[in-house]
Amino acid sequence: MRERAGGSVRAGRTLRGMAEANNIPYPYEAPVSQGLFDRASVVTPGGVNSPVRAFRAVGGTPRFMVSGTGPYLTDADGREYVDLVCSWGPMILGHSHPEVVAAVQAAVARGTSFGTPGEGEVELAEEIVARIGPVEQVRLVSSGTEATMSAIRLARGFTGRAKVIKFAGCYHGHVDALLAAAGSGVATFALPDTPGVTGAQAGDTVVLPYNDIEAVRAAFAAHPGEIACVITEASPGNMGVVPPRDGFNAALKAVCQENGALYISDEVMTGFRTSRAGWFGVDGVVPDLMTFGKVMGGGFPAAAFGGRADVMAHLAPAGPVYQAGTLSGNPVATAAGVAQLRLLDDAAYAKVDAVSEQLRSLVGAALTKEGVAHRVQNASNMFSVFFTDAEVRDYEGAKAQESFRFTAFFHSMLEQGVYLPPSAFESWFVSTAHDERAVERVAAALPAAARAAAEATA
Ligand SMILES: *Cc1c(COP(=O)(O)O)cnc(C)c1O
Repeated sequence: MRERAGGSVRAGRTLRGMAEANNIPYPYEAPVSQGLFDRASVVTPGGVNSPVRAFRAVGGTPRFMVSGTGPYLTDADGREYVDLVCSWGPMILGHSHPEVVAAVQAAVARGTSFGTPGEGEVELAEEIVARIGPVEQVRLVSSGTEATMSAIRLARGFTGRAKVIKFAGCYHGHVDALLAAAGSGVATFALPDTPGVTGAQAGDTVVLPYNDIEAVRAAFAAHPGEIACVITEASPGNMGVVPPRDGFNAALKAVCQENGALYISDEVMTGFRTSRAGWFGVDGVVPDLMTFGKVMGGGFPAAAFGGRADVMAHLAPAGPVYQAGTLSGNPVATAAGVAQLRLLDDAAYAKVDAVSEQLRSLVGAALTKEGVAHRVQNASNMFSVFFTDAEVRDYEGAKAQESFRFTAFFHSMLEQGVYLPPSAFESWFVSTAHDERAVERVAAALPAAARAAAEATA
């Protein structure tokens, strides 16, 4: 095995410089990550515990990360990257934020799970309720998948109806009934239909094109009295970033109300990220139920669903709709979530928004300079790049992009020490820790990556 490159990259040094200084061939292989991936592939299907991590859409060796500090990740080969994934959203304060780490260490020292109620759960629920007006009550769970699955069960129990409307390209976790036209991972792998989901499980799911309110009206007309709820990403980020058209969410809410169905806003990605109050803080449309995850866990498995008190009252043990979890409201996860949310004040969001805007304009300028057709789309500080001229308003539009250009762009950025989501159908994420130096390193990598995108062939 080659020697590992030690230490971290100092300001202004590129990955190429570091590779050369350490006698590592450039563009480099990743021998330690490759060795770990080989071992992982023996004991874990595809070598990963969540599909998009495997780099299958872009090819190459997935990087095994060993540590993270602020805006940087360090991989098992000792190389440092500016992280523009932020664990797919949660690390909005950057990695290893000292106050979050201290809260977690203190919680761990008190005990890691009691299987009883604890004050941390109350604090996290109070923090969520205080920030998000439409959430009168909230139930904590351990993943976004659990949150959406439970919210749908509750909507069906509350309305006594079976059918669920979702939109193509929206991902709501790997809930059986919601794994139809589900964006990102599924888009990346182009799975036609997921084996293992039965006709009965998906048969009550109606999939409609995003941003098309007439399709929603038509579906309600076709299934009178049968639709329990509409679930939508508050602003979709799982087919790349495709914000709702002006008035779309408000119209959805109105159609639901007219038809006695619940409006579920999935804020697992946007919640506590796109503003203090997530996407609700941006568009002000009041959902009946909402789902949260990612940011609210501070890097730990904590998620939630909540909303109208009269609907939440149907949940066990207050009501008949069953829902439970051994590790729900885990004291370490809630300590991390509370610490992170308390640090997310207006100044923090202003910082994240500003970094996002800076990066969007740098990326756009670099691609324009090389004549690459592209659209940089954003929803507040979430953003992604589509390799197409046309504005992307739905999943069909997202799929029409030249994603082979993204592959070339991605690898160039990776080689230069910038870690992007390894798929053209994912949002990029930044944090309060992305400082000038981190932005400069991204800026330095962009010209070569834009050239690689321009020169790429399908
Ligand atoms: C990530 C995500 C989920 C699933 O959350 P997990 O914690 O990965 O189960 C659900 N909905 C949306 C909008 C997401 O982005």
